[in-house]
Amino acid sequence: MTETQPGGTRHADGPFLMDVTALSQLLGALEAAGYQVIGPTVSDDAIILSELGSAAQLPFGWGVELAPGGYRIRQRSDTAAFGHSAGPQSWKQYLHPPREKMWSVDRSGGEFDVVPADEPAPRRAFVGVRPCDLSAIGIQDQVLGRGEHAGSRYAARRAGVFIVAVNCTEPGATCFCTSMGTGPEAGPGYDLALTELVSDTDHKFLVDIGSPAGADMLAQVPVTPAGDGTTGLARSAVAQAADQMGRSMPADALHGLMAGSYDAARWDDVAQRCLTCGNCTMACPTCFCTTVEDVSDLSGEHAERWQLWDSCFSLSFSYLPGGSIRSSDHSRYRQWLTHKLGTWHDQFGSSGCVGCGRCIVWCPVGIDLTEEVAALQAEARQAEAQQAEAQQAEAQQAEAQQAGSRTPGARAGGEQQ
Ligand code: SF4
Ligand code: SF4
Repeated sequence: MTETQPGGTRHADGPFLMDVTALSQLLGALEAAGYQVIGPTVSDDAIILSELGSAAQLPFGWGVELAPGGYRIRQRSDTAAFGHSAGPQSWKQYLHPPREKMWSVDRSGGEFDVVPADEPAPRRAFVGVRPCDLSAIGIQDQVLGRGEHAGSRYAARRAGVFIVAVNCTEPGATCFCTSMGTGPEAGPGYDLALTELVSDTDHKFLVDIGSPAGADMLAQVPVTPAGDGTTGLARSAVAQAADQMGRSMPADALHGLMAGSYDAARWDDVAQRCLTCGNCTMACPTCFCTTVEDVSDLSGEHAERWQLWDSCFSLSFSYLPGGSIRSSDHSRYRQWLTHKLGTWHDQFGSSGCVGCGRCIVWCPVGIDLTEEVAALQAEARQAEAQQAEAQQAEAQQAEAQQAGSRTPGARAGGEQQ
C-alpha cells in the first residue's frame, strides 16, 4: 500500500527493492532531513564508524577476519558495502559518549555560578546498524533512557536518532548473536532495515520499513515493491547466517550458572590470563559504567565536572572507604561476567550480552567469554556429578546400616542390651 504525501510517496507496506546506486539518495535524504549521517568506513586498517560525506565512503568490497585477540580487514571477492561484522567501535560512543561534560562552575564576586552542560542533542542517522548492535541500543535504552532516566542526556540524544539497520548474511568467527536471540535478523527498533544482495551482475537491497519515519524517508528514495522470489532469497540468506555463527552460548542456562559459580575454580584460571585492562568493557556495546572527574583551571575561578567511561576491571571502580572491595583479578573478572550474563537479568530483565563478539576480538590476550562459560558449565556439571555420587554413596551406606540393624544377629545384640 502506498500513500501520496508532499515530497514523495509514503510506502506503508513492503518490503521494497533498492538499487545500490540509491544509497546516495537515501543518505542525501537523511542529510536533507537534518541528520548527521554516521556509518562504517575504512580508516587505519579497520572498519570504523565515522560521519559519512557520501555513500562512496562506505566500505565497498571490504570484509573482516576476526579471532580471539585478532582483527584484520580483508578485500572481499565482491563489492558488498556491509559485508563485515561488528567493528572495534559500537554506537555507544554516540549515545553514551566516552567523555562528557556534566556542568561547569565560575566564581565571580565571591559567588559561584553553576552552568549545566545542556547543549542541544544532535540529530543523527546511524547507517549500517548490525542486529546485535540494535539490541545493544535497546539494552542501553532500558538502562540509561527510561524510568528515572527518562530525562537524561542519553534519552535526549537517543530521541534524535534514525536507524538504518543491516541484516547479517555473513557472521564473523567470533559472533554468537543467534544464541543470544539478537540476530542475524534485526529485531524491533529500526526505522529501515536493509538486506544486501550482491552478485557479479547485480547489487541491490531488500528494504523493510520499521517506523512511520522510515516510511517517510523511503518516500524520498527510488524503490520498487520486492517480488516473492527476491524477498525469499534475502530472507533465506539471513536464515542461513544463523547456522554460520562462529561461536555459541548456552543462553538459557546462564542466569543459574552464574549464580551457582561464585566459588568456581575457573575464576583463578582466567585471572592468570586476564590483564584487567578493561578493553572488553570499553568495546562492549552494552557496558555503561562511568566515573566522574573534576578539573579546575590554575586561577581557581573555573571548574568542570566530567563523566567518563569506567570499567569494573579498574581497582578504583569498587573503591570504598578503606580500599577496593574487588582487589583480586579473579573477583573483577567474575564481577564482569556474572553481571553481564547473570544479575543483569535481575536488574534490567535481559542479558547484558548481545553476542557481538567484540570483547573476544579486542581482548589483548584473547579471552573468550563463550569458552569461559563452557568451562564454568563443565565445572558445575562435574561438581553436580560428584555431589550426586556422594549422595548415592551416603544413601547406600545408610541402607546398608539399616539392613544390618534388621539382621537377626544385630536384633539379638540389640535385645541383649
Ligand atoms: S578479559 Fe581481556 S580485555 Fe577484559 S580486562 Fe581481561 S585482558 Fe582486558
Ligand atoms: S559481552 Fe562481549 S559479546 Fe557480549 S555484548 Fe559485550 S562485547 Fe559483545
